[in-house]
Amino acid sequence: MNDTELLARLAAIVGAAHVLTDAADTAACLTDWRGRYHGACRALVRPGSTAEVSALLALCDAENIPVVPQGGNTSTCGAATPPADGRALLLSLARLSRVREVDTANDTITVEAGLTLAAVQQVAAEAGRLFPLSLASEGSCQIGGNLSTNAGGLAVLRYGTMRELTLGLEVVLADGRVMDLLGGLRKDTSGLDLKQLFIGAEGQLGVITAATLRLFPRPSARATAWLGVADSQQAIAYLAALKARFGDRLTAFELIEEGCQNLLAKHGHTLPFIAPWALLIELSDSGDEALLTDAFVDWLAEQQMVDGVVAQSESERLALWRLREDISEVQKLEGASIKHDIGVPASRIPAFIAACGAELAASFPGCRVACFGHAGDGNLHYNVSHTRPDNARLFDDEAAVNEIVYRHVAACRGSIAAEHGVGQLKGQWLARYKDPVALEAMRALKRTLDPKGLMNPGKWLTAG
Ligand SMILES: Cc1cc2nc3c(=O)[nH]c(=O)nc-3n(C[C@H](O)[C@H](O)[C@H](O)COP(=O)(O)OP(=O)(O)OC[C@H]3O[C@@H](n4cnc5c(N)ncnc54)[C@H](O)[C@@H]3O)c2cc1C
Repeated sequence: MNDTELLARLAAIVGAAHVLTDAADTAACLTDWRGRYHGACRALVRPGSTAEVSALLALCDAENIPVVPQGGNTSTCGAATPPADGRALLLSLARLSRVREVDTANDTITVEAGLTLAAVQQVAAEAGRLFPLSLASEGSCQIGGNLSTNAGGLAVLRYGTMRELTLGLEVVLADGRVMDLLGGLRKDTSGLDLKQLFIGAEGQLGVITAATLRLFPRPSARATAWLGVADSQQAIAYLAALKARFGDRLTAFELIEEGCQNLLAKHGHTLPFIAPWALLIELSDSGDEALLTDAFVDWLAEQQMVDGVVAQSESERLALWRLREDISEVQKLEGASIKHDIGVPASRIPAFIAACGAELAASFPGCRVACFGHAGDGNLHYNVSHTRPDNARLFDDEAAVNEIVYRHVAACRGSIAAEHGVGQLKGQWLARYKDPVALEAMRALKRTLDPKGLMNPGKWLTAG
């Protein structure tokens, strides 16, 4: 089918205003958030309903046209950037942004995939509930993207990742059929839990068009502290002690190494103090905030914690969180880094940091490691730069750096992709470190659900 015919068929499905081909309209969607990957597309299409997504995919299946679903385009691994050959249709989900149902008795919300995460949080709040997924990119990223990457973020310790937060999905398969797995059931043993196949699949098995998500009571009390510790061993000892004392009231436990704190200070942020390692800890609960804060302060005194501040107001609490959320931005201002989003058992974090850091320092004297992340659930962002004096040639060392980092991750029985996905960035490392039998099972699923290999090509999941 030539371009003129295709554009006419697309316009017949979504309306001409939602078929974009001008560079001015498509450029921002053809480059990833980090500016590392650049793609091309035959057209950017913006369907407004599940029926339109279904008709688009049926057309693409019939005409063998690849499809790249895109949400907020905040992927840090090039997952939503189409291949450079320009054959693919780029499918924006942004217009699928309706709230289909808020069920407060069942504590669920059913939303379309293109709603931003911040909007879902807002709708939940207006209903007196909490949707707890929270990421620095929440103003831009969409629920469909969160599902497709199994997003994690700041409160996984208490509430889990998107896998745990999702009760139902609506998915359009590669051939255009709609699979209705929506529903707010907490118990369901009627066959396989197929929704989990599409969560974390990075758009390679189908297009998610809607989801039913779990809601929680809104905490009425929060206690938030910024603490300084000497090393990651001490940090993990505090994690265990906090769990023992506060149970599931421990909501967030973030670890931030000194270099990241220095970068925040350099770029205009005011920190309570700079420590070898900082912890940002949040407790939340129903009940009285003063009581929770007092209990936290008492616990800190028992630990004989020397460096620490406890937020005394909502604005102080938000200011502490702003520090954590702006780390990615200030790193971006400093230039390129080789990024890793790894997961290890929390208990192995000190061993990983010590062994991996020592090998990197020996192999690349003077290199910088920016290490921070959701230590409470074992997820670290471990970003390496200045492997040589001229950081402009950093990526010449990318394979050698990854070789070291991922070997140490594997030694801890960890994951090379904890929450940001695999995308274009980590496919060869997944092939090396994922169990081969598991990989073959994934390929078999790809052959079944997307036999022509049209869904988000050029990423890590192939049929063969
Ligand atoms: C500053 C910053 C901070 C971040 N912090 C975190 C964090 O704390 N935790 C975390 O988990 N991630 C984080 N991320 C990464 C990113 O925001 C998440 O991966 C997010 O879930 C991606 O959502 P998106 O809508 O932008 O998806 P996109 O980037 O558009 O797409 C991501 C993948 O999902 C697929 N996809 C998108 N929508 C659909 C759909 N409807 N159906 C099928 N496939 C689809 C795409 O094809 C692609 O493979 C951060 C990113 C930035 C820039």
